[in-house]
Amino acid sequence: MPSRLEQLCIDKGLKMTEQRRVIARVLSDSADHPDVEAVHRRASEIDAKISIATVYRTVRLFEEANILARHDFGDGRARYEEATSDHHDHLIDVQTGRVIEFRNEEIEKLQRQEAERLGYKLVGHRLELFAVPLAGKTELK
Ligand SMILES: [Zn+2]
Repeated sequence: MPSRLEQLCIDKGLKMTEQRRVIARVLSDSADHPDVEAVHRRASEIDAKISIATVYRTVRLFEEANILARHDFGDGRARYEEATSDHHDHLIDVQTGRVIEFRNEEIEKLQRQEAERLGYKLVGHRLELFAVPLAGKTELK
């Protein structure tokens, strides 16, 4: 069975080589917003012949087809996740690079209201919180 991402590629009419299929599967299976190096590491475990250059090219191709969303979480490394219609924002643990997804309706509403106050209808936004763990606080999720 094709991975979700591979199916999206097929739907968009992208030619799917075996290596592209592997990269699509790796990205589909990754929930941690990997960078290109991490995608390459994981893809190499499945097919050792996949080069980092191929991963770069493929990721760019997927991004241009709006199948992948690229994020810059402030460390200069582009990180990727499957482009989905359900919106979420990100909190980045700056000590570990861990990324936590969240959605807060109050924040969503405030942003719409602020755009309106400025005479605009909001059509999209990106919100990234850069944070360190609270002292003595254990993980919430
Ligand atoms: Zn995300």
